[in-house]
Amino acid sequence: MQNNKEDHLSIESKHAVSSYFGAMTFDHKAMRARLPKEVFQSLQETIKAGREITEEIAGVVAHGMKEWAMDNGATHYTHWFQPMTGSTAEKHDAFLSIDRDGTAIERFSGEQLIQGEPDASSFPSGGMRTTFEARGYTAWDPSSPAFLMKGGSGLTLCIPTVFISYNGEALDAKTPLLRSMNAVSKSAVRLLEVLGVTGVKRVKTFAGIEQEYFLVDKKYSAERPDLVMCGRTLLGALPPKGQQLEDHYFGAIPDRVLEFMQEVEHELYLLGIPAKTRHNEVAPHQFEIAPVFEEANISVDHNLLVMEVMRKVADKKGFALLMMEKPFAGINGSGKHNNWSIGTDTGINLLDPGDTPEENIQFLVFLVAVLKGVYKRADVLRMAIASIGNDHRLGANEAPPAVVTAFLGELLERVLDAIESGKIDLKTEKQVLNLGLSQVPVVNKDYTDRNRTSPFAFTGNKFEFRAVGSSQAASVPNMVLNTLMAEALDDMADAMLAKISAGKDRDTAILETLREEITATKNIRYQGDNYSDALQQAAVERGLPNLKNTPQALRTLESKDVQAMFIKYGVLSHEEIDSRLNIRLERYVKGVDIEARTLQLMLKTLVIPDVSEYQGDISSSYNNLASAAAEIGLADKALKSQAKHLKTLAENLSLLIDLTEELDGVAEKMETLDGEFAKADYCADVLLPFMVKVREVADRLELMVDRSRWQLPTYSEMLFEH
Ligand code: ADP
Ligand code: MG
Repeated sequence: MQNNKEDHLSIESKHAVSSYFGAMTFDHKAMRARLPKEVFQSLQETIKAGREITEEIAGVVAHGMKEWAMDNGATHYTHWFQPMTGSTAEKHDAFLSIDRDGTAIERFSGEQLIQGEPDASSFPSGGMRTTFEARGYTAWDPSSPAFLMKGGSGLTLCIPTVFISYNGEALDAKTPLLRSMNAVSKSAVRLLEVLGVTGVKRVKTFAGIEQEYFLVDKKYSAERPDLVMCGRTLLGALPPKGQQLEDHYFGAIPDRVLEFMQEVEHELYLLGIPAKTRHNEVAPHQFEIAPVFEEANISVDHNLLVMEVMRKVADKKGFALLMMEKPFAGINGSGKHNNWSIGTDTGINLLDPGDTPEENIQFLVFLVAVLKGVYKRADVLRMAIASIGNDHRLGANEAPPAVVTAFLGELLERVLDAIESGKIDLKTEKQVLNLGLSQVPVVNKDYTDRNRTSPFAFTGNKFEFRAVGSSQAASVPNMVLNTLMAEALDDMADAMLAKISAGKDRDTAILETLREEITATKNIRYQGDNYSDALQQAAVERGLPNLKNTPQALRTLESKDVQAMFIKYGVLSHEEIDSRLNIRLERYVKGVDIEARTLQLMLKTLVIPDVSEYQGDISSSYNNLASAAAEIGLADKALKSQAKHLKTLAENLSLLIDLTEELDGVAEKMETLDGEFAKADYCADVLLPFMVKVREVADRLELMVDRSRWQLPTYSEMLFEH
């Protein structure tokens, strides 16, 4: 086999992106070049059919993959998987092995390719198995191509895998996502058959994930324990210039940041990740990267890699990458806009209005199914995006609220209203409907028909779920979307079939079902400003869930009805739901606990000492002044002003000292509470609000103290200096 390494290096620097796109992945092209023809074909068929790979084929594939990886400079391989921590995990093994006679040789067997056994006990299982029987294994997911990851000065072959226990329970975030993709496919194919669309074998879901993030100079972030430990600032006064001027959005990208983006994109192209868009976001030092959409599982994998690559490149370039949802209070937070659509293996986007009346009906049925699923499972969607960071973002003045509603735009609103009121009859007035809908893509190109305040907005041929947190893996939100869609599609198919067996013709059955569901799901459609109080009021009137924080949202997983949905669709078993609930609660509680401890540390070792020193400075200066007052003829009033200044400082410092001491008690009390929900509620209702209360005093003091005495880098420095 030829050596490709040199080729990459020269190709990378001189040629068009398309010539090296995916060069670091064992994709179709590499497989075709490295595998015997029959093996390549057989592997492709196995992947397509979702069947298991035979040992024989695995052996040949492993050999080809190893040769390819080694020719490119890799020395190690790892199974790359997604434990329930929300990030990725890897354990590297060298290809190197030593023969009996002591000769060094590189080996990689079929068995090593398809199955690995990491020490499962170090990953959270949420109580699914006790540590002493921690047996889990990783199994190759051939639908996602293996890739070479740069790190240190070498390359590692990463094999995307699922992570399961020996009893077959999913210990990862990927397995349930793959299951949900199968579930929604089955339901969609069934409904399509009811609609008279045949020949579709599989329906796929797609995700295009826009990723927002902040970059802060490492020289500042390294001096902030809160950024280092928690990824968000726990203290910090707002600078006089915030983002009021909105001069950052789509503004010129600073050169240093552009260099970062270019290197990130370069690495992503090598990994076959189609990074497409880059721009500044609303807040200062906030940016966005958006790859082109792909099938949901690939897109989720790629988003995890985007985050990983960005972290590495940022570090190299002297930046800290902040992906927490709300790193700076009072400044826009970061989300992940999960654009989601559903389409057939024959290439039809089922959320595209299409050109013919038949396509229009199909579109309307799938559109209304999304509304139905989102309405029925709004609380599950909210659960899917609950995290410490997102609690600070959702419902802040710039981010979608915790209430899930759907936005359709004026034209579709009119179409649905017309169908509901009987003004459009699909049977006799297909043409009317067609005329109206054919304008949809055009209308949606118009910016004015966008509602950027909506957590779940229809944007022409996809829904944009904008409430997803920037730091979270997109697996859970997509898994939930697929599952609620599977359920809604099934319910609609059932309703249509019931009407047909009651003697109605198919068109009538479809139209009636559509009409009924349009009426039934009206409450989820909200076209107004989601940042307004009107929405909060509407949520009450419409009975929409308004789950304010993570523990409230996680309780959704305790609902029997919600559990029944996941179980029915084979997405999560009872034990798997329980384990996920346990892990997420525990991570929430631990996360808040770490924040509280970090805040205590900062107050005691930085803020209070700094303010005390400054107070010392000005009290001695005051004393000196007081003794010289008569001599220099200083008026009493002037001396009093200075005393007042000192008094305000001293009072605030005393208050801060008292509150810091009180915070110790408030934080410690959590230990005494029984049960994770009690602890989590306490975090949300008592501990976090108390931390805000202490912060207010510290932030006030920041604006009174000599900058040279204040050790913490300020918001101004972090956000406005380049
Ligand atoms: P915005 O809608 O936020 O202005 P774009 O139109 O550029 O941004 O698209 C945002 C993301 O949506 C991109 O990642 C794009 O690939 C993705 N996207 C486009 N069409 C689809 C689709 N049919 N399904 C899923 N994602 C899609
Ligand atoms: Mg967007």
